[in-house]
Amino acid sequence: MTYGEALKNGTEYLAECGIEDASADAWLLMEFCCKISRTRYLLCRTEQADPELLENYRAVLARRGEHIPLQHITGEQEFMGFTFTVNEHVLIPRQDTEILVETALKAAAPGKKVLDLCTGSGCIIISLMKLCPGLEGTALDLSPQALQVAKKNAVKHRAPVSFLESDLFDQVEGQFDLIVSNPPYIPTGQIGELMEEVRLHEPGMALDGKEDGLYFYRRIVGECDSCLNPGGWLMFEIGSDQGEAVKKMLTEQQFTEVKVIQDLAGLDRVVIGRKKKTEENYV
Ligand code: GLN
Repeated sequence: MTYGEALKNGTEYLAECGIEDASADAWLLMEFCCKISRTRYLLCRTEQADPELLENYRAVLARRGEHIPLQHITGEQEFMGFTFTVNEHVLIPRQDTEILVETALKAAAPGKKVLDLCTGSGCIIISLMKLCPGLEGTALDLSPQALQVAKKNAVKHRAPVSFLESDLFDQVEGQFDLIVSNPPYIPTGQIGELMEEVRLHEPGMALDGKEDGLYFYRRIVGECDSCLNPGGWLMFEIGSDQGEAVKKMLTEQQFTEVKVIQDLAGLDRVVIGRKKKTEENYV
């Protein structure tokens, strides 16, 4: 069988299994298994493929056909131009989250202290530290398995992040200039509607925002005061229908410069707010 035939069969197989982007995934798995670039493929697609590689290709196609996420098969996902190691213990980094990183970079500067809550793979804090060298980064997660992945990513990208296993602020000491978080925000009742890849293979604790999806925002906004410097920023990724609710929480806690920011599709994606610079509310 040639490489071209193998790819065609792979695409058909994934399409039959109901995989949304069958041809893209069939190609990415071929690239992964056969270590072959697109240019090389175009030159060799009529050549007979190595039977051992074909065997591996069939095996990974079968796994993808069971709706195992592509990134769990390849073990990685690109985010902000960096390649992050992922597994079933962390949320796969989403492109949507890049807006949060880009927004946070505007408030970041060397020497500033940043805290990332619910860090998962560590993609947010590590990208921030790579893109703003000199930033002091701390990141936490409740899941020790997630922290193992985040630590691996920090080593891989040489980002000197301090990691904590903590239920939000429980183990946090000191004050930060910037607190970022992409917490779990899907209402429990909506988890069943998610696609199989997410519902069955991504960690439930990284998705589930409890009853109304707002549990973590409520806790973070309510508990952050002692860890946030005056003038410091709190920045969240949110679900596209949560902008107003989260904005209200920040405004009610006396945050200033509260703003909802849209993603490239025009959907509400990030909410930011700034802690008052002075203690004028106490005079
Ligand atoms: N902060 C991580 C990310 O954005 C994990 C988010 C989560 O687990 N909800 O990918």
